[in-house]
Amino acid sequence: MTSPVVQGWCPGALRPMLSGDGLVVRVRLHGGRLPAGVAVRLAEMARAYGNGLIDLSARGNVQLRGVTEALHGALVDELAALGLVDESPQAEAMRNVLVTPFWAAGDGSQEIADELAARLGELPLLPGKFGYAVDTGPAPVLRGASADIRVERSGAGLIVRAEGMATGAAVSVGTAVDAVIALARWFAQAGGISGGRGRMAALVGRGVLPAAGFAAVPMMQAAPFVARPGRVAAGALVGFEFGQMRAETLAALAGLGDMRVTPWRMLLVEGAGLPQVAGAITDADDPRLRVVACTGAPACLQGLADVRGLARRLAVHVPEGRVLHLSGCAKGCAHPAAADVVLTATATGYGLIRRGTAADAALRHLTEDELLAQPELLTETFNAP
Ligand code: SF4
Repeated sequence: MTSPVVQGWCPGALRPMLSGDGLVVRVRLHGGRLPAGVAVRLAEMARAYGNGLIDLSARGNVQLRGVTEALHGALVDELAALGLVDESPQAEAMRNVLVTPFWAAGDGSQEIADELAARLGELPLLPGKFGYAVDTGPAPVLRGASADIRVERSGAGLIVRAEGMATGAAVSVGTAVDAVIALARWFAQAGGISGGRGRMAALVGRGVLPAAGFAAVPMMQAAPFVARPGRVAAGALVGFEFGQMRAETLAALAGLGDMRVTPWRMLLVEGAGLPQVAGAITDADDPRLRVVACTGAPACLQGLADVRGLARRLAVHVPEGRVLHLSGCAKGCAHPAAADVVLTATATGYGLIRRGTAADAALRHLTEDELLAQPELLTETFNAP
């Protein structure tokens, strides 16, 4: 089997990624905020410059798909007019800041995120996927999302924490970014960059630890957060099949209010009741929420199968509260972490993997026809002890 190509970088607006359906242009919002006016413009741009499909990424960004090379420059000009383009691809890549969608005015989250974005130029050159989580709502909700440095709330106040450590340094809203910058500089000086692909958790895992101040305050203990569509304090969380929507859906949601992006491929519509909008999933028990599937073939050049087509048909066989990950190749873009059950496309069918990632060894191989004819094989795999 041919190994998937690992890019080691994420697409941006200035440096889009070529996929089977054209360029993927990733728009990095500020502080995870998606004001209604910006959402309307993005929907218009998705239709004018792309194929009208919009993805939500696991980094809390919005991606326009199917953009042509010829129209890319004009799209960037329009995004720049909205303040959504950085000065260079490098600056864009460094602005990898996730913010809790459950922030409230005055809690410091947006202030920290804005200051961090403004001061990224003070950082050394870091690996392409190095990122930050400003997870300063009432409880941490971003721990399942990739990040190297986290700002969180502990029992005693705010802390800045290196990924992989259970403790952090006590900070205030005014000093949090200073501590983030100090930790990032330490990471570089301590050899964490490691050929341009190093991550904080790997460095800490090797026993290389930052100054004692970053071991001063224990992080808050919290159950893993599971996002589900429905009403939340700030509005309504809304899901989408495979985290993708048509431009018309985004435009319709913008009619309800300002929005916030999340790393769960959902949008939070501020202040809204549950929206009745075509393409939006508001029922937390919708079986489509139990399947995660990447773009797959033909829209991804590395895809070995139309995984979304199969995922739609298998969704009803996934037990409630469990996750089936279908991956178009062993790269596992849509769900890099382990899932309950994974089906990884191969040249001849699918590898069936239990409690693993798309790259793990398969228990057995099945064709699409076998999976559809005997869905109980899937159910049994979920239920196996
Ligand atoms: S996992 Fe899916 S989206 Fe990622 S490279 Fe493979 S086929 Fe493409």
